[in-house]
Parts: sequence; C-alpha cells; structure tokens
Amino acid sequence: RVLCVGVAVLDNMFAIDHFPAEPTKVFAQDFRQVGGGPAANAAVTIARLGGDVSLWARVGDDGIGAGVIAELAQYNVDTSTIRRVPGRRTGVSAVMVDDNGERFIIAFADRELDTDPSWLPSELPRNIDTVLCDVRWPAASEKVLRMALESGIPSVLDADLTNDDAVERLIGLASHAVFSAPALRRLAGTDDIEGGLRAAQSRTKGIVSVTLGADGFAWLEHGEVRRVRAFPIEAVDTLAAGDVFHGAFALALAEGHPTEGAGRFAGAAAALKCTRWGGRAGIPTREELDGFMTE
Ligand code: ADP
Repeated sequence: RVLCVGVAVLDNMFAIDHFPAEPTKVFAQDFRQVGGGPAANAAVTIARLGGDVSLWARVGDDGIGAGVIAELAQYNVDTSTIRRVPGRRTGVSAVMVDDNGERFIIAFADRELDTDPSWLPSELPRNIDTVLCDVRWPAASEKVLRMALESGIPSVLDADLTNDDAVERLIGLASHAVFSAPALRRLAGTDDIEGGLRAAQSRTKGIVSVTLGADGFAWLEHGEVRRVRAFPIEAVDTLAAGDVFHGAFALALAEGHPTEGAGRFAGAAAALKCTRWGGRAGIPTREELDGFMTE
C-alpha cells in the first residue's frame, strides 16, 4: 500500500487551433474538466496499476473540491484523509492546448490552503509500504517523510520545479529523490546530468535520480551514474508523464523492487501513457502494462 501526499486540483482543458497574437475572444474546439496535481495523478496511477493507495491532501470547501474528491474515489483512491478546508478555494487551472500540442497554462492556488498539517494523522497507517510526496504542500510532506524515515520505509520525493525551497528542505529526508531535468538543473546550476546528480547527492544519504523524457531515467549508485533507457514509442502527449512515472516508481518500491527495476517499470508506465492523449485518461492498467513490457 502506498500513501501519496500533496496536491489535488481541477484542470480545465481547452483545445484551440492556435494562440491569438493579442488578447481577444477565442472559441475552443473542445473542453474537458479533469483532476490534476502531481500527488493526485500519481495516486490515480497506483490505483490503475492495481495498488492500494491513499491520498492525504486538502482542497477548498467549494463544489470544485467536492468534484475532485469524487473523481479520485471513482478511481478507487482512498480519499478519507482529504480535508475540505472551510472558507478556502480549490486549486484550478485553465490549460489551453493548440494544434501543435503547445500549452498555455494559468493556474490558481489559494495560498491560504497552505495550512498547518497538524490535523493529519500523527502516525502512518500500519499497512503502508512506501510514501510519495510532492513539493506543493511542503509542511505535510516534511511531516510524512519524517514518519517514513522513523519507520524505515522507502519514500519518494517528487522534486519538481515549482518550489525550490521545499526541494532543498525535503531532499535530505527522502530515501529516493526523483528530479525532473529542469529542477535538477536549477538545484545544481549545471546542464550536466552527472554534475547535477552529484550536487544533489551532497545534500542527502538517499538515492538521487532524474527523469529525462525520451532519454529515460538516471540515478547515482555507489558514486556511479546508472541509466535505464526510455521505451521506444511514438509520443503523442507527454502530459502527466512525470506524475505517472513517480506513482509507478513508488508502487514498484512498495512491491520490493530495487531502484533499477522500479525505474524500468515506471519508465514503461510513463511511456505507455505518452502514446495516449490526456493526462489521467491515458494512464494504463496493470494488464496493459504487463503486455507492453513483454512485447
Ligand atoms: P516530466 O513530465 O516531469 O517533465 P519527463 O519528461 O522526464 O517528466 O518524463 C518522465 C518519464 O516519462 C521519463 O523518465 C520516461 O520514462 C517517460 N517518457 C517521457 N517522454 C517519453 C518519450 N518521448 N518516450 C518514452 N518515454 C518517455
């Protein structure tokens, strides 16, 4: 069983021909509302891949928050520890995607949602094998990463670009810090992957790694850079590829795989998702993934 901690939001997706050159009104060809947020997408991935998963998160007490929770429950994510914070608003975004797949995103996050996580349980549920934390609710992630450290269970930090301070603060607490390439570049101040991983390693006793899009996954082990190549696919939409990778990676660790096996499993899940349109809508089931990996 995996515990995910972090953000759950609602994405409003508009498909348009092209971006206007100046502010004007544009009619969209299509519109969809779909849940998002790194921790929430990872939780849905774990559920789709047949894992038991709980999400600890907070939303506003608006109708949007109720909808976000209902969608997660439909995917069989345990939502009993998602709090609807009184008087606050749920995070939302407007995502405009043009015919070339370029995205223009406007996101709103209610700062007041960044509340004290003292209402969260003070101990991990007993049957948790791995935790996965994003950096968008740092106080909660810190609390849960410390609990995992004390219980000696693996923890995955999704070290993304949105919160440098949180990455710095949390990296030393996680057994596995998984960077996106831009986040590693920002932390280390270098484009060099090996140099970046070494700079990250100086901040933690855990395993540091980076996802590299079509170039796969790399990590440091006993001072050496190791790699798992990406699965060769025709990518049609990479939306949420990173979130799918993190969720599948945490599930594989929970099932007892070492970093290499977990990286391969997660790379396959993320690659398969990249062959399909949509974020959550493209997440494969375990059966589909097993078939893909043995092809
Ligand atoms: P993010 O979405 O956070 O930017 P990446 O682009 O690094 O993350 O993608 C995460 C993972 O998804 C990669 O490590 C890889 O396993 C898989 N992936 C992404 N793009 C491709 C691609 N074009 N072909 C195969 N696998 C891909």
